Amino acid sequence: MENKNSYVPSRFNALANTDDNGVILFNSYNGAIVHFTEEEKANVLPSLKRTGTKELATAIQKDLFDNGFLVSSQVDEKRRAQYLHQSLHRTDVMHLVLLPTEACNFRCTYCYESFERGKMNRETINGLKALVEEKATNLSQLNISWFGGEPLLSLDVIEELSLSFQASAKENHIHYACDLVTNGYLLTKEVFQKLLSWEIRQFMITIDGNADVHDSRRHFAGGGKTFDTIIRNLHAIKEMDDQFEITIRVNFDDSNLEEVPKLIEFLKTDFADDKRFGLIFRPVGRWGGENNDDLPVCSRIIANNKIWEFSDDAVSKGIGLSPMVAGSLMPTGSVCYAAKPHSLVVGSNGQLYKCTVSFDEEINHVGKIHEDGRLDLDYDKIAQWVTSGEETDSICQSCFYRPACQGNHCPYYRMMTGERPCPYEKRQIKKVLNLIWKNSLQ
Ligand code: SF4
Ligand code: SF4
Repeated sequence: MENKNSYVPSRFNALANTDDNGVILFNSYNGAIVHFTEEEKANVLPSLKRTGTKELATAIQKDLFDNGFLVSSQVDEKRRAQYLHQSLHRTDVMHLVLLPTEACNFRCTYCYESFERGKMNRETINGLKALVEEKATNLSQLNISWFGGEPLLSLDVIEELSLSFQASAKENHIHYACDLVTNGYLLTKEVFQKLLSWEIRQFMITIDGNADVHDSRRHFAGGGKTFDTIIRNLHAIKEMDDQFEITIRVNFDDSNLEEVPKLIEFLKTDFADDKRFGLIFRPVGRWGGENNDDLPVCSRIIANNKIWEFSDDAVSKGIGLSPMVAGSLMPTGSVCYAAKPHSLVVGSNGQLYKCTVSFDEEINHVGKIHEDGRLDLDYDKIAQWVTSGEETDSICQSCFYRPACQGNHCPYYRMMTGERPCPYEKRQIKKVLNLIWKNSLQ
């Protein structure tokens, strides 16, 4: 039946109560997150009734409209979401996930990598420089994610490629931004300073508990402790004045669940006063690797609850959430790079992939980069990574979180299980919104 009212609530809204008796509203199409006080709430809720409202009569209603929580009843929001999806096909953006080495100095108990290939070879380094130089004239944005193995084992490769990419970006006025995933052991202040000079400003470092627990899970290849050195590095970095973001990731399973609150307590002492450091919690999964079948992974229900319980504990103790949490709620923010047409993973031997977990799967071997920068690409395989989400899934098409996730949070999970890969944030959206609000008060 046609809606006679002029303004209706957006299908992409989510609403949560906050601890101060107010409400927080979120819209996944434009990323708006707005808190309303208890007093304002009395006007907000009636304005969002499903039948809509004829006019924007009050300041609150105008506010709701300006933030996209109310939309004109003429708007076809599903079409908006389709168009947003198509924007991922723009050709002036490139994201490369690079493995400067596939070797690692650690042997984490739950790691899925095989370490068969070592440092990036000369042909691949030359190929990457040539590729970026050739594409640069048509790019407005170049994002590089340094991954591994442990990328800092091949700092010279990072340096050589960074200097070349930075020169291309500067010459062609390209927005250039980088992130790096490291175990943190080699991340001394001197190394960190170099990385910043190469525009690497977002970091993810995993710590799984206080010293004993961390060292039992994330130890050296051949054994040996790692916790004290990582913490020493973080302390030295904290003394620097530069702008950066360090996400401390805590991986948990049944065997360290009890330890996580103790780690939060420990980190609080040194890092609660520095907003450049934030936490994210993730359950260990059976991602492959030699210990795969024996991993004490949490049940799905426990994992879903513990992520936000730990996050709440951290925020209550004054340690910020990683910006990755709020970032994942933004339009396309929960779409995995494997599902993005402009994104490729480049192995140390020039093998191209879409996903950074399923390295041994044939479907993930999508091509090869040559020394002159030419790419051989298997578009039939790439199509399976890029088109398996909301295009064909009617539940995703009707989901309030669709613009953030597009049904593509983890295309690998969908391929392997046939199930929908709803992100943790969506599953507990009310808790997450309340946490984001609490986090913003710090
Ligand atoms: S497809 Fe899934 S497993 Fe692969 S990188 Fe993306 S989120 Fe990770
Ligand atoms: S995978 Fe889940 S969260 Fe993502 S769009 Fe589909 S139903 Fe929504």
